[in-house]
Amino acid sequence: NKTELQQHDREHLLHPFTDFQDLGQQGTRVITSAEGAYITDIDGNRLLDGMSGLWCCNLGYSRKEISNAIYEQLNTLPFYNSFFQCTTVPSIELADVLAEVTPAHMNNVFFTGSGSEANDTNLRLIRRFWDLQEKPEKRIVISRMNGYHGSTIAGASLGGMNGMHKQFQPLDYIEYVQQPYWFGEGGDLSPEEFGIQAARSLDEKIQELGPEKVAAFIAEPIQGAGGVIIPPETYWPEVKKVLDQYDILLVMDEVIFGFGRTGEWFGSDYYGLKPDLMTFAKAVTNGYFPLGGTMVSDRVAEVIKTKGGEFTHGYTYSAHPAACMAGLVTINILRNEKIIENVRDVTGPYLAKRWAELAEHPIVGETRSLGMVGALELVKDKASRARFDDNCTAGGVCRDLSNKHGLVMRAVGDAMVIAPPLIMTTEQVDELVEKAHRALDDTAKALA
Ligand code: PLP
Repeated sequence: NKTELQQHDREHLLHPFTDFQDLGQQGTRVITSAEGAYITDIDGNRLLDGMSGLWCCNLGYSRKEISNAIYEQLNTLPFYNSFFQCTTVPSIELADVLAEVTPAHMNNVFFTGSGSEANDTNLRLIRRFWDLQEKPEKRIVISRMNGYHGSTIAGASLGGMNGMHKQFQPLDYIEYVQQPYWFGEGGDLSPEEFGIQAARSLDEKIQELGPEKVAAFIAEPIQGAGGVIIPPETYWPEVKKVLDQYDILLVMDEVIFGFGRTGEWFGSDYYGLKPDLMTFAKAVTNGYFPLGGTMVSDRVAEVIKTKGGEFTHGYTYSAHPAACMAGLVTINILRNEKIIENVRDVTGPYLAKRWAELAEHPIVGETRSLGMVGALELVKDKASRARFDDNCTAGGVCRDLSNKHGLVMRAVGDAMVIAPPLIMTTEQVDELVEKAHRALDDTAKALA
């Protein structure tokens, strides 16, 4: 029963990103089943999943084609590795398909088991690339404050999350620059001016470090876990100029925005960027099986493949056959059912329109959205953008109240974020916005 399960959970399970002293009277929510865009808990409560699990179930929870393909693969060849000149059919097929759906200049993939491992792989590839180019002085990787790139030591070092850095020693060759978070940090500048300023901060950092020492810049196209921070339109074109000027590799972390979330296949497509490396995970298998990887541009792959012998790196589960089958079927569904086109043309614009209506709410300081992702900022005072309190606890209140109204939203401080399944209908978008509205009303009352 529920109480017993929760007790065992409390006694034996160390949950990720959880304050164990703060599990509350209610204890953890035990999720028991899911269907379409909804999850159901052990009490029978059905919640509209505004977060696609953890930004990964882009096709929702009912795609038997994926689970059946995994099952069949497990019964045919449950495991074989891709080390030492071995390969498997699903891994070859998925590599082919990834080369088709990713930007034209990316035709090689290194598979991993997760996004974090893929970012570790990126650090190895970056170093290997510059060493083989006989530029060993290029060692520094620049990332952004408040970015998220995973939880391994490399991933967490690349990430710019203060709360994480306090609990370990980040790698010493990683440097951080400003994030393009206009609502929080833009002050009196217009979004366009602020976008330029944030990009110039990268230029300044490169100058300060010495351009000849900077190997790569890593960023999410839009910061996801940092609070769905959609950069001003001026930001990416300016960053691109800066990187090109100094021959610095661009690593786009597409773990959240890959596979359709913006209404394009990748965030890089949306912003017209040509990354040298591109991290993916999560939605590549619709979250059904652990799989990640990094797409490698022709420029980098050429060097890795033709110079210097063995690349001494790999994971047992690199190119796991069942994971690759899950990826193949997921991408087939995205293509055959024109899911991404539908986000671009129908549900994305519809969500944008309905989500923007929430900006009228007395405690909402800003709404933003793109494709099937959105955020709103909770404020006590719209004009000054003042929060309810310095610790930004309003978000947690709103999250719990949205759960009560049957909606999963995530709180990032006082930013409420959504990343609903791409398969959501316009009626479900209405349901989402209405439930969010009720949660905001209750939050306003609770904090009054
Ligand atoms: N990169 C980004 C942008 C992410 O959002 C995440 C996870 O949320 C990761 C990397 C890490 O991926 P994983 O949790 O699969 O290791």
